Amino acid sequence: MQIPAQFEEMMMAQMGAEYDAFRTALEKDPQVSIRLNRRKLDATVLEDRVPWCENGRYLAERPSFTLDPMLHAGCYYVQEASSMFVEQVFRQFVDSESPVVLDLCAAPGGKSTHLASLLDGRGWLVSNEVMRGRVGVLQENLTKWGAPNVTVTNSDPADFTDLSGLFDVILVDAPCSGEGMFRKDEQAVAEWSPENVRFCAERQRRILADVFPALAEDGILIYSTCTFNKEEDEENVKWIAEELGAEILEVQLDDSWQVSTVGAGYHFYPHKTRGEGFFLAALRKTSEASLSRRKKKNDAKNVLPPQAKSLVDWLKEPVKLMTRNDVVYAVLSDYAELTAQLADHLRIVQSGVEVATVKGKDLIPSQNLAFSWLLKEGLFPSVELSWEDAVAYLHKDNILLDSTAPKGILLLTYRGVALGWAKNLGNRCNNLYPSEWRIRMQVAGTEFNDFMK
Ligand code: SAM
Repeated sequence: MQIPAQFEEMMMAQMGAEYDAFRTALEKDPQVSIRLNRRKLDATVLEDRVPWCENGRYLAERPSFTLDPMLHAGCYYVQEASSMFVEQVFRQFVDSESPVVLDLCAAPGGKSTHLASLLDGRGWLVSNEVMRGRVGVLQENLTKWGAPNVTVTNSDPADFTDLSGLFDVILVDAPCSGEGMFRKDEQAVAEWSPENVRFCAERQRRILADVFPALAEDGILIYSTCTFNKEEDEENVKWIAEELGAEILEVQLDDSWQVSTVGAGYHFYPHKTRGEGFFLAALRKTSEASLSRRKKKNDAKNVLPPQAKSLVDWLKEPVKLMTRNDVVYAVLSDYAELTAQLADHLRIVQSGVEVATVKGKDLIPSQNLAFSWLLKEGLFPSVELSWEDAVAYLHKDNILLDSTAPKGILLLTYRGVALGWAKNLGNRCNNLYPSEWRIRMQVAGTEFNDFMK
């Protein structure tokens, strides 16, 4: 790997005697790891656990994930192990039973799906991505994960400034110079320069200053990057503490994790920890934050078509139903006011669970519902697919079901986990999987080395 000389000099100064081991580790293959979705998958699968994350698992090699129906069903997320350390901050410092959490720089959704698991249906998660072109993949990953208590937004950090004191936890996984990704991403190496490091550090401060007012007093800020340099890491953490008003928190570590610290955050170096380069700091806000209250608005009256009212019976928890065009959404009743407040300030991509589309007298269940933790079991007849049929379905081929399969709308499953809907007409079966999520690679005649077996 051809790494910039100025980066080498900087790291030699930072690492001292450890530099050679660090440099050698950059030439090694990255670790492969996944995080399991316990709402869909038993945790007893796979034994090589990521020590700082209950549901993190290392894999011995990189399988062809695209060919695994379990990935498409949201049973796990392919995530670099070091970044799963967010879990430690959440477990050690977030004491509210139902916190309101913001993931400000969220696409493609590694940390948002993790936060959704840590919330486990409690509280509310706002998962934001400013880049319009990246928000689709974020929405897809969160939909597949299935947590009902999530709003996906596409807003600028400055749009959060007026949501004063609203969030108990804010994660800023900032865009950075990506030094920790050098062994995974050649572009990060090509784009590295001291000027770019400075540019990133300044941009991070702007993002932090914009969003900080939205953090409640005593709220927790998690600041992370996948880079090693002090400018973007320690110096920015000290700046947050001094300029924005926060106390730097000490995260309890296990010595065997080999996490490094010089006091203002935690470094994951590839020669010491099993994972990519990563930095994280946890802070508690000490400066004042007034609590923003929603001004009473005359919300446009949301009139539900009469047949849609029965949709509450499809779901396991009490919800408020809302319609946009002919699509019906459900928001957990306790969070209807919060989501309305978010909609006053932010560009909403999805809030709560899209349940169904009203077509004349019929209610067509949405793909979102198939994945949701809220869907009542046994409500729709289901048909279990073989691996071959499951990948054909995900490829958007028409599959032929057994003549004994029930007619009408069916929930198709693989190993008991929902993949999506089909309409069985008897002589043929219409594939209702969303075209934009279909597997694009050739699947016929392929094989999958199933690492969960
Ligand atoms: N948290 C994500 C995850 O775990 O999957 C990875 C986030 S990535 C490190 C940083 C994100 O910040 C990118 O999605 C990028 O589009 C977004 N970003 C870029 N410029 C930004 C800005 N000025 N303000 C906020 N976010 C920005």
